[in-house]
Amino acid sequence: MIEFDRVDKSFGALKVLDELSFRVDPGERVTLIGPSGSGKTTILRLLMTLEKVTPKADPERDGGVVWVEGQPYSHMEKRGRLVPANERWLRRRRSSVGMVFQQFNLFPNMRVLRNVTEAQVHVAGRSKEEAEAKARDLLELVGLSDKTDAYPSHLSGGQQQRVAIARALAMDPDILLLDEVTSALDPELVADVLAVLRDIADTTSITMLCVTHEMGFARDVSDRVMMFDSGRIVEQGPPEAMFSEPQEARTQDFLRAVL
Ligand code: ATP
Repeated sequence: MIEFDRVDKSFGALKVLDELSFRVDPGERVTLIGPSGSGKTTILRLLMTLEKVTPKADPERDGGVVWVEGQPYSHMEKRGRLVPANERWLRRRRSSVGMVFQQFNLFPNMRVLRNVTEAQVHVAGRSKEEAEAKARDLLELVGLSDKTDAYPSHLSGGQQQRVAIARALAMDPDILLLDEVTSALDPELVADVLAVLRDIADTTSITMLCVTHEMGFARDVSDRVMMFDSGRIVEQGPPEAMFSEPQEARTQDFLRAVL
């Protein structure tokens, strides 16, 4: 389970998350929607420990605790108290979370297979053979068995994104974070990536948090849609209710603009 407990996060004077509290159950698929700047990516980045809550800087602006699987994630316990986590703690916790970014972020100097084996060998400590076997299985799952020897620059954006999905899954994460993974793609490549994600949603019990403007995908795959504005949850519910009968004017306006 993921839990945000009264999380405040600021960048300078800008408060991006405002006493934000929510929970995501194991295996749940949650879509985060809302206008640009509402804090969606910051939530994923906190879960990936690419951002931290640093209350010492200013307790009014930064605070709260992120929990994952019942363990403090942004913090660690020291003499019975929670203190902001150090790098070592974060590195250890981070292995339960995989993230796929808008811009793929593949290693350009490595072939596809090595992109998917690299962290398995160097972070998870698997043997090269084990890592390659897993990478081949995952590349088959994402429909790229014939591209194992290609460099990323020789792949389409959609293919690169499918490699990035395979790479994230290779570490056996409990939680998969997807940050606008189709936004940088040409429209004709979007469907293949969404089909792979649908397949993963259908065949695994991985918890998925997804920031997307693909409302059709959100409708098909999510158990719950959360609407954000100014770092707060405006409204949340199952996709059918959120898309057909949004209660809040802010959600109605947003959906009118994107649907
Ligand atoms: P979008 O849909 O445009 O990606 P978002 O809802 O994901 O928006 P965030 O990316 O979480 O929003 O950003 C929230 C606000 O925080 C934005 O105004 C952004 O410019 C700002 N911000 C995010 N990261 C940083 C940073 N590292 N330093 C300074 N400001 C930042």
